[in-house]
Amino acid sequence: MTARQRVLVAGGGVAGIASALALAQLGVQVTLVETRKKLGGRATSFTDVRTGEHLDNCQHVVLGCCTNYLDFLRRLGSLDKLTWTREQYWIERGGRTSIIRPSFLPAPTHFSLSVLAARFLSIREKLALARAMNAILRADRSRWTNKAFADFLASVGQPPRLIRVFWAPVVISACNLPCERCCASSALQVFQEGFIANAHAADVGVSRVPLVELYDRAESIISAAGGSIRLGASIQSLTPRSITLSTGEVLNADKVISTLPAERLREVVSDELIASDPRLSVTTRVAHSPILGVHMRFDRPILSTPHAVLVDANVQWLFRKDDEGKSIHAVISAADDWLPLTEEQVAQRVLSDLHAHIPSSAQAKLEWVRPVKEKRATFALTPDFEPLRPGVMPQNPEGLILAGDWVQSGWPATMEGAVRTGYAAAAAALSRPAGELVVRDMPPSRLCRLLGLRSVPSPLLKDSPADHTPPAHRTSIAQIPTTPVLTS
Ligand SMILES: Cc1cc2nc3c(=O)[nH]c(=O)nc-3n(C[C@H](O)[C@H](O)[C@H](O)COP(=O)(O)OP(=O)(O)OC[C@H]3O[C@@H](n4cnc5c(N)ncnc54)[C@H](O)[C@@H]3O)c2cc1C
Repeated sequence: MTARQRVLVAGGGVAGIASALALAQLGVQVTLVETRKKLGGRATSFTDVRTGEHLDNCQHVVLGCCTNYLDFLRRLGSLDKLTWTREQYWIERGGRTSIIRPSFLPAPTHFSLSVLAARFLSIREKLALARAMNAILRADRSRWTNKAFADFLASVGQPPRLIRVFWAPVVISACNLPCERCCASSALQVFQEGFIANAHAADVGVSRVPLVELYDRAESIISAAGGSIRLGASIQSLTPRSITLSTGEVLNADKVISTLPAERLREVVSDELIASDPRLSVTTRVAHSPILGVHMRFDRPILSTPHAVLVDANVQWLFRKDDEGKSIHAVISAADDWLPLTEEQVAQRVLSDLHAHIPSSAQAKLEWVRPVKEKRATFALTPDFEPLRPGVMPQNPEGLILAGDWVQSGWPATMEGAVRTGYAAAAAALSRPAGELVVRDMPPSRLCRLLGLRSVPSPLLKDSPADHTPPAHRTSIAQIPTTPVLTS
């Protein structure tokens, strides 16, 4: 394909924007079609009519190991809109706080000093945790695809309280499923790449601006290459070379990339296309897991740290949304049992956790609360579904190219997974190896390699042997991720 040819991208979430940007920056004329009137999909913001506040649909967190998402923000000129912290604050009932932070020790031992000092874990639990981390370091995660992470924890003898106060909140936050339902290989990937491999992998980044503003430059980059973003344009049907809008307008192109969520894709492809492409039959088998984000404003500061994990609570994470600590965002992942609750009941449950863990918050008056329930927040990353996730590339080169967080990326349903598939889809549209656009993982430390951390090549890079060579060493996430050099 030459740069003059045209590509249609269905869906303006993170995966769709990433595909369209990568193509436009190579000079391809790309049209991105999005049904909503703004970009970002599930990672976006809205203006709350009651308060007039610009709120994210939910707090979105990025980690230092999200090399592709960081590259995506760099392309958008938005990398400097993230704020980074290296500490994680774990608050127990009564307010006692333990800070988990990397030390001067090399990965995988970088967290060991603060875990040793952590007061929410007993000596016995710390020993069990060390044993499990050692097993995770050496685990061949391909052997755990058909099992739940709870099976892995049982195999390394983790005590029930340690599972409840440590493993469960981390796995639920990262994979949006409890340990009993979450695919073990996916949870292992989170710990191997997000905690163990590199001392900067678990650095926590959050946007300082409403999420939707991160994408402000997308339109100008895409139009500079002769393309366009069609907002408010609902796709009624699509084929590997055309999109028909609900208005009846037909858009044609040389390639179509779908970044629609599975259930939406199912609605717009024909039975014939599904019959000819076995990847698409999976679209009927995707189950979902909800996330609840609760925006709150108090009359006085209640949270002094940028964020906090509540130990042994219903709410997993709190985020401070202003400098003072009066605006708080509470996140409850795998929030199935919260869905039937009314706004008042949600507020009461969150307040009860807040009062128990931050006792001074009981004096504060809640000025307003705005829960946002995302019933289909992510696909359910179960052992049944993980092996079924479709690939980006069709078997037939003339087929539909797929991207989106549910497509096989080697990552859970995250913005990083979405961008990875978006880049791989852009490369596929140009008939180039994914490795020309997909950014490499953070390199594991030398000690990790010596201790036997298995480096698992990304499923997206299977056809790109050159990408398995060790990447240039990066020690700081402050450095911009390297974008592979690509000529158009
Ligand atoms: C509450 C919540 C919290 C989360 N927290 C985090 C987090 O902290 N960190 C993290 O990395 N990830 C998080 N995620 C996951 C992350 O948001 C998603 O994995 C990612 O945004 C998915 O991007 P996507 O482009 O694959 O899909 P989507 O964002 O769903 O994009 C698909 C787009 O297609 C559009 N579309 C659908 N049908 C049509 C149609 N017929 N015509 C035209 N357009 C259509 C949709 O409107 C949408 O914009 C969270 C998700 C939720 C919901």
